[in-house]
Amino acid sequence: MTDASRDVVPALPCPRVPVRGGGSFPVHRIYCVGRNFADHAREMGAAAPASKAERGQPVFFLKPADAIVTGGEAAYPPGTADLQHEIELVVALGRDAPPGVLDRDAAQSLVFGYGLGLDLTRRDLQSAAKAKSLPWDTGKAFDQSAPVSELLPAGMVGELAPRTLSLTVNGALRQQSRLDQLIWDVPDILNALSTLYALRAGDLVFMGTPAGVAPLQPGDTCVGRLDDLLELHCRIAPPRV
Ligand code: MN
Repeated sequence: MTDASRDVVPALPCPRVPVRGGGSFPVHRIYCVGRNFADHAREMGAAAPASKAERGQPVFFLKPADAIVTGGEAAYPPGTADLQHEIELVVALGRDAPPGVLDRDAAQSLVFGYGLGLDLTRRDLQSAAKAKSLPWDTGKAFDQSAPVSELLPAGMVGELAPRTLSLTVNGALRQQSRLDQLIWDVPDILNALSTLYALRAGDLVFMGTPAGVAPLQPGDTCVGRLDDLLELHCRIAPPRV
């Protein structure tokens, strides 16, 4: 007799993000958008589209759900000498969608709420991969690479376009942009993802970062803000040995 219901290694807990007002958001997948602000695309040496008609398709990559960090501290990761910050709007999905095209209202209706995230990046590894046309995983999808704030239900955020995303490091302003500068806005991105994946309640989407990405050192304190609505605090701790 075999007992296939018996786990042969311990099952790990589902990563969760706290929600303002109570409860927590169990994380299924973390989708990330590359090059979604023209100023950042240019600083990375990529061409920025001159108009919506020329923007082509967004660049997507994923991080594992257990890359989430909610405790206010992420360890400086191994294998890099160039850890960089990317402050991003995070969209939390509250409904499933079968694969297919979504109109703007249907896309917006999937949104549970918003948070802030740091897309921590081992830039040296990402740059080496890009140069060889290899995948970005080691540069992007490592342990503790996705610090996030609490989530705010969408009804408490309202219209995103006039909101300003910013990041200070040790009190100095490093990144700042209005969200009307997104090349693909939230319905655009959810529609594009939905043509490629079955979206699920529990998915998070990191929407891409504006210009100003730069190296971090152990001991640095990052503070992200979305106006006065959301704050993300993350200290970079010494490497774990
Ligand atoms: Mn990013």
